[in-house]
Amino acid sequence: MISSVLPSTKIHNFNAGPSILPAEVLEEASRAIFDFNNTGLSILEIGHRTVMFEAVMSEARSLVKELMNLDADHEVLFLHGGATTQFMQVPMNLLNENDLAFYTDTGTWASKAIKEARLFGHVEIAGSARDTNYTTIPKQLSVSPTGVYLHITTNETIAGTQWTNMPYDSGIPVVADMSSDIFSRQLDFNKFAIIYAGAQKNMGAAGVNLIVVNKNILGKVNRPLPTILDYRNHIKEESMLNTPPVFAVYVAMLTLRWLKAQGGVPALEKLNGAKAKLLYDTIDSLPVFRGTVANEDRSKMNAVFVMEDPSLEKEFAELCKKEGMIGIKGHRSVGGFRISLYNALKLESVEALTALMKDFANKKG
Ligand SMILES: *Cc1c(COP(=O)(O)O)cnc(C)c1O
Repeated sequence: MISSVLPSTKIHNFNAGPSILPAEVLEEASRAIFDFNNTGLSILEIGHRTVMFEAVMSEARSLVKELMNLDADHEVLFLHGGATTQFMQVPMNLLNENDLAFYTDTGTWASKAIKEARLFGHVEIAGSARDTNYTTIPKQLSVSPTGVYLHITTNETIAGTQWTNMPYDSGIPVVADMSSDIFSRQLDFNKFAIIYAGAQKNMGAAGVNLIVVNKNILGKVNRPLPTILDYRNHIKEESMLNTPPVFAVYVAMLTLRWLKAQGGVPALEKLNGAKAKLLYDTIDSLPVFRGTVANEDRSKMNAVFVMEDPSLEKEFAELCKKEGMIGIKGHRSVGGFRISLYNALKLESVEALTALMKDFANKKG
C-alpha cells in the first residue's frame, strides 16, 4: 500500500530548503517510482527521449507558461546545476568582458551572484543593504542605461527580506533570482529578462532549475560559450540537449499541477499572505520575541526572529521539537529562528506554531 509509506501528518515542516512538498505530490511521485502511468515501468528507468517523458517535460513547460502568463518571447527551461550555476551562467551568456552589469547586494545569495558575475565583466552595486546588516531592501537604486542588466534576489532566504516593488522601471533588463519565492505571489513575469530558481524551495525536489528567459536578450556576447552553458542550445532542444534530471522534472511537473489546482499564483499569494500575517502578528504581539527585519521588507517566505532573552532560545527550540516542528533553527550566520512558509505549507502548521509561541510567552511573561 503506497499510502502507508507516507509519514503521519503530525510533523510541521518549516525547512528552508529542500523543503515541504504537497502530500499529493509525494504520493503520486512515489507511485511513479514503481509504476509510471500504468506502463509497468518506473519513472527512474525510462529513457528521456521516450514519448512518456517528453509528455512530462512538455506539460511542465506549458504549466510554467500558463501559471506565469508568459508571452511568446519568454522561453521556459529546466536545467541542472542548482541556482548556483545560474550565478555564473547568466553573466557568461549576457556580459562581454568590458560590459557593465548592475547588482543589488541584499545578503548571502546576492553576494554569491556578484562574485560570479565579476568573473565575466564589470559589476557595479546599484543598491546595498550591507549597512543595515541585511535587514532591509534598498529603496533607491543607482542604475545607468550603460548597464546590460540589473540583477536582484527577490527573496533573501537567509536574511528573511523580500522585495515588494520590483525595479521594472530601472531602464535596463532585469534578471531575478527567485529561488525562494517563485510562484508565491503575482508579478509581471514578462517584465523580467531572466528569472531563475532552484526547484527545491517552492516548486519541487532538488536537482533541477527553472529558467525563464526572454530570447531577445541572448546572442550578444562574443566569447565562445560551452555547448551545455549556452541558453540558446537549450531553447533549441527544448531542455533535452542532454539527459535532463528526469525525476526532478517529474516532481516539479506534479508540483506545478498542484499549484494550478489550488487556483494558481493568485490563490497561493492569498494563502502565503495569511500565513505570514499570522506569524508576524504573533511575533509583534509577544514581547519575548523580536523580528530582525524592517517591517516593510519582511519576507513572506522566510520569517526570521530572535528572543529578547537569548538564553530562552534553547528551551523554545526543544519545545518545538517535541511538538513535531522541524527546521525552525535560524541560519548559523543570523541565529535565532527562521520559519519557512513556502507554498506547500498549510495554514494549520502556522496556527500550531503560533499557539505554541503564545503558550511559551505566557509561561515566561
Ligand atoms: C537556495 C538558494 C540558492 C542556491 O540554490 P542551489 O540550488 O543550492 O544552488 C540561490 N539563491 C537563493 C535565493 C536561494 O534561496
